[in-house]
Amino acid sequence: MHRVVVTGGSGFLGSHLIDRLIEQGHEVICLDNFFTGSKDNIRHLLDNDHFELIRHDVIEPILLEGDWIFNLACPASPLHYQYNAVKTIKTSVIGTINMLGLAKRVHARILQASTSEVYGDPLQHPQKEEYWGNVNPIGKRSCYDEGKRAAECLMMDYHRMNNVDIRIVRIFNTFGPRMAVADGRVVSNIIVQALRDQPITIYGDGSQTRSFCYVDDLIDGILRLMEHPTETRPVNIGNPHEFTILELAEAIHKILGKKMNIEYHDLPSDDPIRRQPDISRAKEVLGWEPKVGLEDGLKATIDYFKRKLEIL
Ligand code: NAD
Ligand code: UDP
Repeated sequence: MHRVVVTGGSGFLGSHLIDRLIEQGHEVICLDNFFTGSKDNIRHLLDNDHFELIRHDVIEPILLEGDWIFNLACPASPLHYQYNAVKTIKTSVIGTINMLGLAKRVHARILQASTSEVYGDPLQHPQKEEYWGNVNPIGKRSCYDEGKRAAECLMMDYHRMNNVDIRIVRIFNTFGPRMAVADGRVVSNIIVQALRDQPITIYGDGSQTRSFCYVDDLIDGILRLMEHPTETRPVNIGNPHEFTILELAEAIHKILGKKMNIEYHDLPSDDPIRRQPDISRAKEVLGWEPKVGLEDGLKATIDYFKRKLEIL
């Protein structure tokens, strides 16, 4: 049993991670400033003796004790991370410094939620961890991409200089229940628009690709990485099945039995054209690969949004 600190714990991924940690018998302290997180995601845990919630912004230092730290605090949807770009990069840089300082002080193992965005608009395909990426340092996505790259740099430097026990996971597009209705990312947008019989928003011509991982698989991968005794290199966790955005929209409409009504919008600047993880390292080191296919994952996510929209 460990005492575990999860930053960003009331968000989409953080709340699923906490559920699994509690199931495994760990004690969890959740830190969140509720920018994109929601109490709804953790309400079922509020009476649990193994769970503690602290409203806290990771930009401020905090004194706690713990064996493991999962640093997930950071808005993940372009809509939200661009809302206050300076705050986003502060969250990744100052927030990560604060959590690394905590890890150093109490000798905790710390995992940083990094992202496929460190590869930018990738010139290598699929993306291996050795690839250094093609990131615009001055664009609208830079507050997120460069913030996460700086966070990885900080993790490595605290590891090299102070022997902090680090784990770095590069998460590729993940979806599932507990995404916010107004999250703004593509899976939730299209499902919510289709359920409301609104036109679906496709940015560009919809031929750009992403590889979508179901949340349960993702959490399984993150936990395996944290439990690994020695792996301090970055590890890609994602589903290697690549789809165009139009194919994703078609898959959602097929499940719903609805016809597509598309509204085309301009492609945002620096929107990556292709993205697909090479997961050889995760397979080899963690024995991990995703199990849930796109259709099954979408069905579970659609069921969640149906329930969520009825209560709104
Ligand atoms: P999310 O927006 O649902 O969750 C982020 C959480 O962090 C929210 O609860 C939010 O309130 C909290 N937060 C934001 N800024 C904070 C701050 N300064 N102090 C304290 N809390 C703060 O997003 P998510 O999809 O759950 O993403 C979680 C993590 O995983 C993020 O670090 C994100 O960058 C990373 N990630 C996610 C994906 C994905 O596809 N979901 C892909 C790559 C990386
Ligand atoms: N996208 C879209 N319609 C939407 C939201 C997103 O066509 O309503 C596109 C977006 O331009 C991108 C892809 O879907 O090419 C994935 O976008 P998302 O914001 O989910 O994630 P990211 O771009 O960070 O991978």
